Amino acid sequence: MKKLSFVIIGLLLLLTFKNFSSYSVDTKGRNTIIEGNNVKIFIEKNYLTKMEMVSFVIKIERGINRVKKYLEEENIKSKKKVQIHLKAGDFISSGHGGVITLAYVKEKKDLYIHELVHILAGPGKSGWWIREGFAVYLNDTLDHEPFSSFGEDLHELSKFHMENGEYEEILGIGRRYDYVHFGKTRKTDYLFSGSLVKFIIENYGKEYFFKLYNEEHLDFFLRREGKEILEEWKNEIRK
Ligand SMILES: [Zn+2]
Repeated sequence: MKKLSFVIIGLLLLLTFKNFSSYSVDTKGRNTIIEGNNVKIFIEKNYLTKMEMVSFVIKIERGINRVKKYLEEENIKSKKKVQIHLKAGDFISSGHGGVITLAYVKEKKDLYIHELVHILAGPGKSGWWIREGFAVYLNDTLDHEPFSSFGEDLHELSKFHMENGEYEEILGIGRRYDYVHFGKTRKTDYLFSGSLVKFIIENYGKEYFFKLYNEEHLDFFLRREGKEILEEWKNEIRK
């Protein structure tokens, strides 16, 4: 407990001054556990320095507040405390069922906003593209990661990859989710979805977007009313 006193003092000082909720710090097995009102963070032993832990807590607390502010009360689907696991290693981050496993925190390349969006906005009722596209869009808007880290925005990058022949439209119905994909690779699939979501939100508004987010069969939407929106988006980014 003694070696964690710096963390406790750091957290108390920094968090109190920023009007954050108070935190408790504990060690259990292989983890340091930092718990506040909104979040419970499990950090693998020897993974982060004390300062890195403090700055992560501040970052995640801000992130939760910003995502919640964007969603507004009616679109926040989970009121539960968010659980986050941090550990070393080369793995893909995930966020579902209230639990986030986050990679590359030490390198400061963690997609924390992306995963928070999955938890706080919920999985929606329909397609992969709208769920992932929304997480990509908000991650880009609120944190400028990952795609804009190249110094370009989602539309510009989509244009680049479209011109490289990486766009492919597949609209179908899956067992659990509609099978709608736009990219030939995993990366471009996320990118095009994020760009389309950005286009819908900026041109049709948040209210319209959240109506779609909770729609049952989005592939039908993309074949009917959405067909025009899809064409408008492609024309916009090809400009
Ligand atoms: Zn995701």
